[in-house]
Amino acid sequence: MSSGQVVTAHGSIRLPAFLPDATRGVVRSIDSRDLMDVGITALMVNTMHLSRTPGVSLVAKLGGAHSFMGWPGPIAADSGGFQVMSLVAAGKNLARVSRQGFTYRFQPTQEFKQWTPERCLDAQLRLGADIVFTLDYCITTTASAALQAESVELTIEWARQTRKLYDARIAQHPDRPRPLLFAAVQGGSDLDLRKRCVDELLEIGFDGFGFGGWPITDDGQLVEMVGEVAEMLPSGVPKHALGIGSPENVRAAWRAGYTLFDCSLPTRNARRGRLYVCDGGARRGYSVLVATDERWSRDPGPIDESCDCPCCRTVARAYLSHLFRIEDALALRLATLHNLRFYRRMMDALSADSP
Ligand SMILES: [Zn+2]
Repeated sequence: MSSGQVVTAHGSIRLPAFLPDATRGVVRSIDSRDLMDVGITALMVNTMHLSRTPGVSLVAKLGGAHSFMGWPGPIAADSGGFQVMSLVAAGKNLARVSRQGFTYRFQPTQEFKQWTPERCLDAQLRLGADIVFTLDYCITTTASAALQAESVELTIEWARQTRKLYDARIAQHPDRPRPLLFAAVQGGSDLDLRKRCVDELLEIGFDGFGFGGWPITDDGQLVEMVGEVAEMLPSGVPKHALGIGSPENVRAAWRAGYTLFDCSLPTRNARRGRLYVCDGGARRGYSVLVATDERWSRDPGPIDESCDCPCCRTVARAYLSHLFRIEDALALRLATLHNLRFYRRMMDALSADSP
């Protein structure tokens, strides 16, 4: 694995790379051909969501996530730790934490289910993901010092368990290409805890690392710890800025040393008619065009003069604005393609720069 790419069984991911979130096994409103048309090389799926619907067993029976989704390129999966944090934070007895892992309320049936390091790993392996994450204990920014310490101890313990299980699973199938094993660094806002987590995870040994925990301040900036953690990690190892998605935060994380990104922001914004437009300046700034704004309803120009996506190549702002007004599904597809192309072009621009 060179620092310029991540090599997987389903192809190489050239770095830096933005992985659209195919949370439930789909990047909403577009298909694999669309994704390839705008230069997307890899996707990120949500293990807990797919475990819930349609279920890992069904996806595995149908040949794994690549076959199920009709996507031939690399797929990264997450550990589900972030979703469990949301359930714990929501209260209402939706999830509990113990040394064994998480117990959470399964929404469709209301029954309690276990999410342990072993179940988490096996679900990702059965999905056939090319990048899998160890189960981590993600906490909120307002967590107490005691809880931050507990999250690090459990994250390290679960990482150690997962590494052993992973090695045993891989040894059973020496003929198959192995997925890459990543671990997320926890430790909240405590520098010493982050350092302890990094040191222990490096000692256990992983193919890549993610920044775990909430990475954004209340006013939308990256927390300083994102850069601090990158500095603690070796320079050549892949670093995934989990969930970091606004263009300015992606650029800041890239400058800090991160090379893998995923976020639902660009596709969610597209479905809301919020489209990124390059300003063309040397600093590569951007603005956001709101498709439903009255000012675009008669505009004959493309969304972005500099963009070569299927939307900008074929239709005017006035037409996209019309599609959003009449709530046609084509609006979602064209807008999603445009925003993902914007991110692809941003990755290309970053790789032409020095971090
Ligand atoms: Zn475009």
